[in-house]
Amino acid sequence: MRGYFWLAVGLAVLGFLACHAGRIWVDAGQRGFGLARRLGWALLGAVAPSRYWWGARIEALSPYEQADLLARETAALGLSRADNLHCPLCSTEVSHAWALTPDSCPTVAPGPVQCPRCDFRLDSCRHCVHFLPGTPQTWGGFHWGSGDVTFGRCNRYKALRSVEQVCPPEVAHQLKARGYEQVRAPLPIVDSFLPPDFCTAFKPERRRLRASGIRWPNARRVALLRLLASPPAPETAPPEELPSDDEQWLL
Ligand SMILES: [Zn+2]
Ligand SMILES: [Zn+2]
Repeated sequence: MRGYFWLAVGLAVLGFLACHAGRIWVDAGQRGFGLARRLGWALLGAVAPSRYWWGARIEALSPYEQADLLARETAALGLSRADNLHCPLCSTEVSHAWALTPDSCPTVAPGPVQCPRCDFRLDSCRHCVHFLPGTPQTWGGFHWGSGDVTFGRCNRYKALRSVEQVCPPEVAHQLKARGYEQVRAPLPIVDSFLPPDFCTAFKPERRRLRASGIRWPNARRVALLRLLASPPAPETAPPEELPSDDEQWLL
């Protein structure tokens, strides 16, 4: 009995993979891929279909088809530009939220990336790897306010603070006995949607973005960001001929 069960599971998985591979095989043929490339993409695409559909296939499209795809997919997302974001708090469209790193990976665009309607900010402390949410948990072992991400401290920027503010009472007492009034401690963040003015250290953390209800760009969105960043079709921008030395002389 068990044997039949695993046979059925195996056949289902094979059927699933073959279906992916078959669709890619047919589409790559229509795109004019050579036999070896077709076979290669069909095999790779069986396990990682988005590598074909949002990678190789898009590169093979004409500039006109690429522009058309970008327009259609952006409209399907309900956005006016592919690098925008729907605010997770009020669903207003936030402009220029996403960008690509030099090696074409998605990231949060250089800020401020702010909702025009509410307090939401994408490049804020609560979405940053350097953020320490809530109250420090060393205070006598009991955690009040733990799990609260509305305020906290920044692990990147330090500030001089009095020992009573940052240490448990007995440690503060010992430090003061040795002549220490202040220590360098993580900078307090009063509102985690408001980074300090001087902060240039924002680095997105996906887990924290997910907690705010934001989806990190998937393969489809990354493909759209690449299309958005790629230069327009060559026929729309004819190369301007510079006058030669002789012509310059005549002018
Ligand atoms: Zn908003
Ligand atoms: Zn910060």
